[in-house]
Amino acid sequence: MQKILEEVVEENRPLAKRGRVASYIPALAKADPNHLGICIVDVNGDIYKIGDADVKFTIQSISKVISLMLALIDNGEKVFEKVGREGTEDPFNTLYKLDFPHIEKPVNPMINAGAIATTAQIKGDKFGRILELIRRITGNADIDYSREVYLSEKATGEKNRAIAHLMKARGIIEEDPEEILDHYFKQCSIEVTACDLAKIAVFIANGCSGLESYGKIDRKTLSRNLLAIMTIGGMYNVSGQYAAQVGVPSKSGVGGGIMAAVPGRMGIGVFSPPLDENGNSIAGCAIMKSLSDRLDLSIF
Ligand code: GLU
Repeated sequence: MQKILEEVVEENRPLAKRGRVASYIPALAKADPNHLGICIVDVNGDIYKIGDADVKFTIQSISKVISLMLALIDNGEKVFEKVGREGTEDPFNTLYKLDFPHIEKPVNPMINAGAIATTAQIKGDKFGRILELIRRITGNADIDYSREVYLSEKATGEKNRAIAHLMKARGIIEEDPEEILDHYFKQCSIEVTACDLAKIAVFIANGCSGLESYGKIDRKTLSRNLLAIMTIGGMYNVSGQYAAQVGVPSKSGVGGGIMAAVPGRMGIGVFSPPLDENGNSIAGCAIMKSLSDRLDLSIF
């Protein structure tokens, strides 16, 4: 495995040069484009890693999987009364369809609108519980959020603000939009490593076994929903293409991370900050394709 990781990094490292680190959130523009790391954790708990697998970066959109997990634990499949689970060709921060009278909810929990509507359904201290769940699944009690990135997101989050207020006006969310956004900006600013992502991914890949309580949902239904929704929407508006080429339920974030869950086999965390035009890590996607080809990971 270590040899495969070495080869995959060598082959795909040059691709990072073709991408650009996210800059629409000013604090993200400080990311080092040369960072590149991979971590694989298999269902037996064996860990393989290479490069910058222990370097911290912000989880960003990958947190949407965790907020969906908690919303499902709290509400069961009632969650889908307020957010759909269908694919979309619209970008992650799309807004316009929410103003169409016949559209009743955001299309899925992986676009920003859907994620904000999902976080709104978490009971109690939404952000506190998301952070706690990530710490529990990874076994890493030191995980925290970046105050700098959080403040930067909050200061520049006008589009997300517009989305949340429009959803309040449409009755999709009931609470104060600013309060929900505060939880959302914080959840996106949680700092993780590729190895933390691999641990969350293997938990999902292994049928979410090991949580003390599943609340309103059984663990099989929980993991099936997460894997299905990552497949149809986890890689933004190119999720279908990624499914055909890589075939592993995955979620990416504009911090440069990809979290990939290979059902029954392993979790993979990849980190490389330069992004393509869709917001996916450019070397990260190519690394996932190489790993899928070599290790025969596609579920299709
Ligand atoms: N915090 C980012 C935003 O809401 C997350 C986007 C992403 O990773 O796709 O714009």
